[in-house]
Amino acid sequence: MKIAFIGLGNMGGGMAANLVKAGHTVRAFDLSQDALARAKEAGCETFSTVPEAVQGAEAVVSMLPNGAIVKDVYASNVIGHAPHAATLIDCSTIDVATAKAVADAAHAEGYKMVDAPVSGGIAAANGGTLTFMVGGEIHAFDAAKPVLEAMGKAVIHAGDAGAGQTAKICNNMLLAITMIGTAEAMKMAEKLGLDQQKFYEISSQSSGYNWSLNAYTPLPGVGVDSPADNGYAGGFATPLMVKDLRLAMEAAETADAAVPLGSRAAALYEDFLGAGNDALDFSAIIKTY
Ligand code: NAD
Repeated sequence: MKIAFIGLGNMGGGMAANLVKAGHTVRAFDLSQDALARAKEAGCETFSTVPEAVQGAEAVVSMLPNGAIVKDVYASNVIGHAPHAATLIDCSTIDVATAKAVADAAHAEGYKMVDAPVSGGIAAANGGTLTFMVGGEIHAFDAAKPVLEAMGKAVIHAGDAGAGQTAKICNNMLLAITMIGTAEAMKMAEKLGLDQQKFYEISSQSSGYNWSLNAYTPLPGVGVDSPADNGYAGGFATPLMVKDLRLAMEAAETADAAVPLGSRAAALYEDFLGAGNDALDFSAIIKTY
């Protein structure tokens, strides 16, 4: 397939490379010359404007920093420039309202469009093992699925336009809550004199079982291998968790949803980021206990 790819950063670079590996022709664009050079090395064709990159494309994939940029790129340079039969796939993490508005604008011009944010970080993007949560009509999902399958291990239809973003922010709000809960319990157990590895062994097989404890243990040398064992480098950076929590709080307000724990988690992560921890994985919040 001929696929245009816009936004070849930490995530998009590896995703575009995996589309090339799967045999697709990838027409790449990014504002950064370095990112474009890396994409070229990975086998993409590179272009100096979005309208050129989307010419003749059967699908357009974007992986961009935020909703304002996604809206601008689609409104100014994708809608009306890509062939009308192209499937538009935005994989960026953005606010639900913008995702819906961009999909509406695309539908008005006869395009199929999905929001398809991802779970999994840079390693999963490079390794082609992302999970995609997809919002859009079923015929748009069916058209996007083979493209997404070349970049991930799971592609799940969440519902109509915006449902992918809803799934993503609700999931990450839950992740923030379980990480903070895990950190609190582990440090309290330690203060009470319990060996950390013993606590891990017991709680990971008891009702305290959760992903943050079992699959991402936030203390070095305890439980599974995780960013904690690497000085909290790599993994899911704190600024990205804060970004997702801000989107979650915004969405909660719009939907009038009660999120007492989510808002507390968001405040704790804002404080943690404000204290200069932007280079650390989100599990490093355990250091504040
Ligand atoms: P990044 O900053 O590394 O990459 C973004 C790229 O977009 C950059 O190369 C930038 O030059 C380019 N860009 C910005 N404006 C542009 C424009 N107008 N036209 C073309 N290119 C433009 O960010 P990232 O880590 O790759 O994240 C991308 C998206 O993926 C974000 O929405 C992020 O929230 C989401 N995400 C990231 C991770 C992660 O672990 N990094 C995990 C899940 C989701």
